[in-house]
Amino acid sequence: MALDQKPAPNDLSAYWMPFTANRFFKANPRMVVAAQDMHYTAADGRQVLDGTSGMWCSNAGHGRPRITAAIADMAGRLDYAPAFQIGHPSAFELANRVIALAPDNMAHVFFTNSGSEAVDTALKIALAYHRMKGEGTRSRLIGRERGYHGVGFGGISVGGIVNNRRFFGNALAGTDHLAHTHLPENAYSKGQPEHGAHLADELERLVTLHGAENIAALIVEPMAGSTGVLLPPKGYLQKLREITRKHGILLIFDEVITGFGRLGTAFAAQYFGVEPDMITCAKGLTNGVIPMGGVIVSAEIHDAFMKGPEHAIELFHGYTYSGNPVACAAGLATLDTYAEEGLLTRAADLADVWQNALHGLQGLPHVIDIRNLGLVGAVELAPIEGAPGKRAFDVFLRAFDAGILVRVTGDIIALSPPLIVSKEQIEELTGKLAEILKATD
Ligand code: PMP
Repeated sequence: MALDQKPAPNDLSAYWMPFTANRFFKANPRMVVAAQDMHYTAADGRQVLDGTSGMWCSNAGHGRPRITAAIADMAGRLDYAPAFQIGHPSAFELANRVIALAPDNMAHVFFTNSGSEAVDTALKIALAYHRMKGEGTRSRLIGRERGYHGVGFGGISVGGIVNNRRFFGNALAGTDHLAHTHLPENAYSKGQPEHGAHLADELERLVTLHGAENIAALIVEPMAGSTGVLLPPKGYLQKLREITRKHGILLIFDEVITGFGRLGTAFAAQYFGVEPDMITCAKGLTNGVIPMGGVIVSAEIHDAFMKGPEHAIELFHGYTYSGNPVACAAGLATLDTYAEEGLLTRAADLADVWQNALHGLQGLPHVIDIRNLGLVGAVELAPIEGAPGKRAFDVFLRAFDAGILVRVTGDIIALSPPLIVSKEQIEELTGKLAEILKATD
């Protein structure tokens, strides 16, 4: 088709949608055409309450004028700047602002365009760091079952999701996975679960098996989001920190979801009182408005690279759009919005209301677990025999029709509303979900 020929506006054929049942979608499209504050507008004009912050990213809600104005302004002033060997002020400012929010041991930020890129960047930095220190045998990477670290080859290798890996060949060699922390005895936990800190000891077994001198890094989500809100048991992350420190293994927290206020602190590392060596972030960094991610690193890691001739590149890695000016402008305006409205601690203020509303769903048909932390929650349903995922997917479809957006993974319904959510909207979200669950066969 030539440039001057326009396909019909309702032609859905060309777009291959990500992580979507494309054929089902195109037969039953669910479209949104606008978003403002806590709501999407569906194609038929209905308002849909955003129970998921888009995909865990619109922490300040939608259509925030300060962010859109900053983007328009920067696009008009400096639409693009070369990312390598040339700088522009906003990238430095944003890095400083992120460091000011990050745990005390964090000192530098490497910008990427997504969470997946942040993860692969962090893994590469870990490998190169050990080489810089003369410990190049440290090449093994450890992740965790049911961990999601994006879709790059590094991310799917340390990730613990079978379907994300099994179609794509061998991925990275030399990866291991700790057990996930989703234990049946923790069902209906309020906040952090009691049982399972011992699962961190599995790391000692891997150290014995491979030798610490061969292990580069452990990456975990402090709270696993995408695989259904799997919470760290009390003491578990602290144990991982002790063991990694003891053996010189870097600890990477993947905070693509938990970063920027989801648990009531800027980063989950602060919520749990554990200082990792690197933090990956994305999503809430720009309120999801412009794609952007980053790897936040300790001074120790960064400084290991800062040697050799002064004119020599220290890290052979980067993206055309690393620190893109328009993305940085979005990031700065987002952080201003968070600061002005106290959003990074709002999840802490609402945590009790959230917990009570969510756990009020206990006892409804098919519900087998409810869990919560900060402004995140999950309602797990018993699967239909022979059709795993179908029950929760039906709930997702009916929820969208009823005017609430929820997220589904397997038979788990995950909720993570924008941090601007009101108490009434929390009641609306859980109230409508309750109605739908009551009507579920
Ligand atoms: N890590 C985590 C913990 C995530 O939740 C996600 C996205 N949900 C990613 C990495 C990948 O981010 P992106 O989709 O921006 O590549």
